[in-house]
Amino acid sequence: MEEKNIIRIKENALKEHIPIIMDDTLEVIGNILKTNKPKLILEIGTAVGYSAICFTKYLAEDGRIDTIERDEERIKEAKINIKEMGLEEIIRIYEGDAVDILPTLNEKYDMVFIDAAKGKYPFFLKEALRMLNKDGIIFADNILYKGYVMSDYNKHKQRTAVRNLREYIKEVTENENLETEILEVGDGLAISKIKNS
Ligand code: SAH
Ligand code: MG
Repeated sequence: MEEKNIIRIKENALKEHIPIIMDDTLEVIGNILKTNKPKLILEIGTAVGYSAICFTKYLAEDGRIDTIERDEERIKEAKINIKEMGLEEIIRIYEGDAVDILPTLNEKYDMVFIDAAKGKYPFFLKEALRMLNKDGIIFADNILYKGYVMSDYNKHKQRTAVRNLREYIKEVTENENLETEILEVGDGLAISKIKNS
């Protein structure tokens, strides 16, 4: 991987205030993927391709990433970044709303990274579970949303997002087939693995 290019992609994204994955979150995910070596990753929320590009480092041989983005400007930039890294064969962008695209997908994924509209997390979870391999893993970024999710303050503008993030946490925690950890890294990261009993 061209370290210089990835640093430039990251710095540009930060300059443009694009909410890319935080370093500590990436480190946690990277450490897990190092041993998991996923073959197929699904990402919901490409932005400019930064996290997808970072994840390619952990793919198994012949591994691939499918990633979904609806913002045209970001798609354009993601394509440039992915091309520059020589990863066009590895990362495939689905252009459009994940709510429409997910139901059309039918692959089996080893890892799903949920990092898009917070109000849609319960729906994304349902779709992720439908397509997850039996030893698969789901990461949900921004799950604690600046601390709103764990506070009892409910009057702010983001309350729909917060309600849905809480719903996501409830579902992954109560699902008997899943083993879930909620970490306070970055903006909060939920890690759910299928239980292998
Ligand atoms: N994963 C990226 C950051 C994603 S930011 C990284 O770490 O580098 C979240 C992105 O999700 C934004 O670009 C936003 O446009 C996109 N998004 C939000 N809701 C979406 C939806 N319903 N369908 C597709 N993309 C969505
Ligand atoms: Mg995020």
